[in-house]
Amino acid sequence: MNVKEYFVGLFKGMHSLIKGMEVTGKELLTPKVTEQYPENRATLKIPDRFRATLQFIYDEQGNHKCIACKSCERNCPNGTIKITTRMVDLPNGKKKMKLDKYVYDLGSCTFCGLCATSCPTSAIEFSNDFEQAVFTRESLVKQLNYLPEKDEPVPAAAPAPAQPKASEEKPAAPAATATNENKENQ
Ligand code: SF4
Ligand code: SF4
Repeated sequence: MNVKEYFVGLFKGMHSLIKGMEVTGKELLTPKVTEQYPENRATLKIPDRFRATLQFIYDEQGNHKCIACKSCERNCPNGTIKITTRMVDLPNGKKKMKLDKYVYDLGSCTFCGLCATSCPTSAIEFSNDFEQAVFTRESLVKQLNYLPEKDEPVPAAAPAPAQPKASEEKPAAPAATATNENKENQ
């Protein structure tokens, strides 16, 4: 290495060092984005569309909209959903398939969302509750229909035929014969 090559290498090294320090200096002045978890749990904002775990949608009365069609189970690419059903007798004499157990294994879910998008009744959705860490894989298997399944509603009885009103009833026939008989006796 001659003197010229030595100084060219030296200046290149200095230039590279200054470039690196420039980037470091910029980052020193930009706002911090590091999350202090779990200290910031109360103020932590998780995006609504974040898929953390599958869940049933229950209304205030504890009803869900699952019709046990198993479309989600068929569309799941890796067998994460296991549905068991039972046949029930309806009050009108017909039979109907009802949901018995809806089991979801969070440990094998890839969060592709095919189950929720293929559900015809929008009975399931993804929650953004990201705190799902547990100590065993078995604990990741959940029964999503955790409330007792309700019986089929009894259909309302057919309305009774309307009774005629008192004003619409035929007036009683006058007791003309009895009156005439009374006159004759007088
Ligand atoms: S998100 Fe995908 S992998 Fe997970 S249960 Fe639904 S269909 Fe299966
Ligand atoms: S969650 Fe939806 S797709 Fe799955 S069985 Fe119930 S109604 Fe069918």
